[in-house]
Amino acid sequence: MIDWSQIDTVLLDMDGTLLDLHYDNYFWQQYMPRRYAEIHRRDAEESRAQVNSQINRSRGTLAWYCVDHWSEQLKLDIPALKREVAHMIRMRPFVEDFLKRLHHSDKHLVLVTNAHRKVLDLKLDHTGIGRWFDEMVVSHDYQMPKEDLQFWHRFHATHPFTPARTLLIDDNEAVLEAARRYGVGHLLTLLQPDSQRDKRLDTRFPGIHHFDEIMPDGQL
Ligand SMILES: [Mg+2]
Repeated sequence: MIDWSQIDTVLLDMDGTLLDLHYDNYFWQQYMPRRYAEIHRRDAEESRAQVNSQINRSRGTLAWYCVDHWSEQLKLDIPALKREVAHMIRMRPFVEDFLKRLHHSDKHLVLVTNAHRKVLDLKLDHTGIGRWFDEMVVSHDYQMPKEDLQFWHRFHATHPFTPARTLLIDDNEAVLEAARRYGVGHLLTLLQPDSQRDKRLDTRFPGIHHFDEIMPDGQL
């Protein structure tokens, strides 16, 4: 599925790619609305519907990924609430082996995430995956989410890579589409970003279930 000899740079998404998206889905759809209702003394069901629709309206924008924005909008300390359930942050299977092999290979390995830096730091603390990367990039620093073509122009301007010899693995197909338009030559998605939800059968990009399917040769 991947000819590693054709690839110099590997760009990896974090949530739903390296880490189980169940943490994020559970947090935003269940835990946070429940805590919102408790803290603001509102009805739990009503709060859930209201908060979910408020969040869904900004899906795909940088605000959607911004915990400072939601702390302000919802009058909640979102990073503190995230820490309350941080024990649920999990690496997906084979991720550590995959990252180690790439770390010891000649590939340039970059984490590229839409996550807010506060969330990135929390997840790095709980998983230790940061040590395997040459660089870690947060789209907030470019004022554009990865779904936007403009992000790729800005990212490339500061991080030289050869698009045709670059692999991006990301569970978000809008992100893969923007990268494809920019010229990134190798694109893969994940078939089951959230371990608690059904496997996706209708992806527009080639998908893997786990990283063992594309494990590069080399030492661990
Ligand atoms: Mg993702």
